[in-house]
Amino acid sequence: MSTLIALNADVLVTMDAQRREIRDGALVAEGPAVQWVGPTAELPHEYRRMADEGRAQVLDMRGRVLLPGLVNTHHHMYQSLTRAVPAAQDAELFSWLTNLYMLWSHLTPEMVYVSTQTAMAELMLSGCTTTSDHLYLYPNGARLDDAIAAAQQMGMRFHAARGSMSLGRSKGGLPPDAVVEEEEAILRDSLRLIQQYHDASRHAMLRVVLAPCSPFSVTRGLMRESALLARAHGVSLHTHLAENDNDVAFSREKFDMTPAQYAESLGWVGRDVWHAHCVKLDPEGIALFARTGTGVAHCPCSNMRLASGIAPVRSMRDAGVPVGLGVDGSASNDGAHMLGEARQALLLQRVGHGPAAMGAREALEIATLGGARVLNRDDIGALAPGMSADFVAFDMAAVGYAGAGHDPVAALVFCTPANVDTSVINGRVVVERGRLLTADLPVVLGRHNALAQTLFERASAGH
Ligand SMILES: [Zn+2]
Repeated sequence: MSTLIALNADVLVTMDAQRREIRDGALVAEGPAVQWVGPTAELPHEYRRMADEGRAQVLDMRGRVLLPGLVNTHHHMYQSLTRAVPAAQDAELFSWLTNLYMLWSHLTPEMVYVSTQTAMAELMLSGCTTTSDHLYLYPNGARLDDAIAAAQQMGMRFHAARGSMSLGRSKGGLPPDAVVEEEEAILRDSLRLIQQYHDASRHAMLRVVLAPCSPFSVTRGLMRESALLARAHGVSLHTHLAENDNDVAFSREKFDMTPAQYAESLGWVGRDVWHAHCVKLDPEGIALFARTGTGVAHCPCSNMRLASGIAPVRSMRDAGVPVGLGVDGSASNDGAHMLGEARQALLLQRVGHGPAAMGAREALEIATLGGARVLNRDDIGALAPGMSADFVAFDMAAVGYAGAGHDPVAALVFCTPANVDTSVINGRVVVERGRLLTADLPVVLGRHNALAQTLFERASAGH
């Protein structure tokens, strides 16, 4: 098994049970798992000898802050093809969606593959090592397999969410009928994906999630059936909930329930469930989520972009609700900088609830351990023996960190977010000196931009 030794980190942030921050820190990984963490001066002799004899890969982390890889709990990667679309720049959620559905109906399998590569490159360069993706449109032969293939090529730890929409406009839903699927086909494909790909083992690089899209795009029947299927196979459940006032109004009008009551009525609470946004989760909903261990993917940039509001993250955390971060789809952010998302989480809570509402270390904890808990994993989000070898390092020589040596860890959140210097996923170096090693990025971006143009041309030609 290959050994990787990271040495001399200015600070090593562990996020372990004691939240230790180790000055001049070192870490040893063997294969996919961390074996040892501590001060460089205390590195065990056997590892020192392996490093000296060239029997281990050695990373000199001098001048860098090293921390657990960040965890992204909500994304729609295909939307990287539809950033800054003029017709959707200045809209709230429902009209934003209505303006984009027809454009997305022209997606192809290659577009899903390449946009996933692009989105993952952006995430990896910004500190993320584990991500979920919620793909809920399958036009023109596109499949979740296309996103999974891209994740395997990029070397990213992936929770692939089999999204779905079944409630077209003719049945009282929001999406046009052309982009929804039959429920039987959705459930059949969900089962196929679980059987083909889901890996429940420790350090798994790929897990499958079932993820009907939202209360206004699927039926109650599909929500219930998906929950039964997920629980029969031990996979997690994910959807959108209580995103804005219109979303809550839809729930009250159609179901005569709050979004939290609706979720509970369908069996959509528990440690194996996480909901995106929850901007309008009420106190009863927060208590319910805390009691049941139901997770929340907090997406501050998207919530600001669509003017959805300020999610009650302070209240959720105080009540014990698991909260992670999500960059959300690139048509509503439209940037997917994971460390930047942690910064926005802190800033937005302060706008809503004052300067004590969130500190830098809490923001980093939400971005790492919080995300791990939301994804129902205990093998990522912290650096300690037995945890997955997922870590990133930021170079404090970047201009944005100049003068912040008083507290380099807090600087990661307070200062303008930089890209990573180093990223290691499952014991494998995937970013070195700021360069992505698993893909030829200019080639990927060239293809991505050509496909984005094709998508627009097809949509405007209306065929
Ligand atoms: Zn979303």
